[in-house]
Amino acid sequence: MLKDFELWFITGSQHLYGPETLEQVAKHSQAIASELDKSKELPVKVVFKPVVKTAEEIYEVVVEANNTPACIGIITWMHTFSPAKMWISGLNALQKPFLHLHTQYNRDLPWSEIDMDFMNLNQAAHGDREFGYMSSRLRLQRKVIVGHWQDAEVQRQIGVWSRAAAGWQEMQTLKVARFGDNMRNVAVTEGDKVDAQIKLGFTVHGFGIGDLLEEINRVSDADIDSLVEKIEKEYQVADELKKGGARHESLRESAKIETGLRSFLDKGGFKAFTTTFEDLHGLKQLPGFAVQRLMADGYGFGAEGDWKTAALLRAMKVMSEGLTGGTSFMEDYTYHFHPDGQKVLGSHMLEVCESIAEKQPVVEIHPLGIGGKEDPIRSIFTVKPGQAINASVVDMGNRFRLIVNEVEVVPLDMPMPKLPVASALWVPKPNLNIGASAWILAGGAHHTVFSQNISAECMECFAEMADIEYLLIDDNTSLFDFKKELKWNNMYYHMQQRI
Ligand code: MN
Repeated sequence: MLKDFELWFITGSQHLYGPETLEQVAKHSQAIASELDKSKELPVKVVFKPVVKTAEEIYEVVVEANNTPACIGIITWMHTFSPAKMWISGLNALQKPFLHLHTQYNRDLPWSEIDMDFMNLNQAAHGDREFGYMSSRLRLQRKVIVGHWQDAEVQRQIGVWSRAAAGWQEMQTLKVARFGDNMRNVAVTEGDKVDAQIKLGFTVHGFGIGDLLEEINRVSDADIDSLVEKIEKEYQVADELKKGGARHESLRESAKIETGLRSFLDKGGFKAFTTTFEDLHGLKQLPGFAVQRLMADGYGFGAEGDWKTAALLRAMKVMSEGLTGGTSFMEDYTYHFHPDGQKVLGSHMLEVCESIAEKQPVVEIHPLGIGGKEDPIRSIFTVKPGQAINASVVDMGNRFRLIVNEVEVVPLDMPMPKLPVASALWVPKPNLNIGASAWILAGGAHHTVFSQNISAECMECFAEMADIEYLLIDDNTSLFDFKKELKWNNMYYHMQQRI
């Protein structure tokens, strides 16, 4: 899917230089666009666009980019000087994310050859400054990447940004289905859905559980048979759940729920959904295993009606396509406060995505004290040690705030044979004390998107595209500075608000 997306490479110039120089500019730009297109660091296509030399040409290509669904953003570069008043109408019209690549065709100065012709052709060092001034004067959010276009680090940064742009594009058309409302009285998973649509693009569609039940009841025995067979092949299934086992019917019920849920989502074009255990009338079990498997297939999910996390998870699933490691719905569940190493045990009552599983999950059935239903099926696994992030989006009343905490997933001190759910154990950066303090001061939710393959760098790009508040908690976080940042941001967003 990411390969269907395009970044348009737009080079600015002007007529002053004459046709020969402009031809050279076009050739260089084509070479750069083609190299970026082929780069393994970029999961999307890069498309060369003819060099723009007038305000009219700039405006036209921007409007075309706006109106091309496959185009998820533009890359701009001023090979020569491109007087920036020419860019005002185009940049004002731009509705796609934009990246300003501050590069130069030649890497090195041609010491013995350099003359004024060379100087007149290779002017990005000052041409991009003129362009940067106008972008700043127009108060435009954009990414600036500096360095030679063949440099691996430059290409990596463009790749990261392009993933954020893909997630942003996905959010613009994303439909979230909600079965039931929020868990009663819960605050942080609530929010303004109208504002979310205005600011973030996605739409939230409420359904009664009866609508889903109707779809589930239509599922045929043959469809249940084939899914159960597949599950028995792909997982390590508990004996009691296997065909002929005492509780096989429960596995069949879970397969029935999954098939109905999947069909409901696909028919309605929903790529994300929420459930709530307070509204399950007619369902025999809380959908656990079904949700885990749907997440692994790329659907966004939020428990207890958490539509913001569901939407964020879906966007991050798109952003992470093709990368090693997984991305899951998560909750900070319980702590290990031992002085030798303070850690967080993350989990949920059922719904953790199998994409983050270290080994093949086991499928079991256990009682669930909540929801008042039959025992639900779930897959159980642990998560591989390594770098990850937790991301949370909250509604501060006048704005959305995205909070990201870098974490280090660590091995279990001891096995947890009685824990009947999937889980991850991590140490937040810079440590649990400062990390959790900052998170709580920022109003971060207990629900998060946990990701092993999307970096904080990528989330920062995403927040800039969305023009929402972004707070990072990492190794450099000091509470003294963080508290000031919160205060300053309150003032900034108060002043930024429309009347
Ligand atoms: Mn929860």
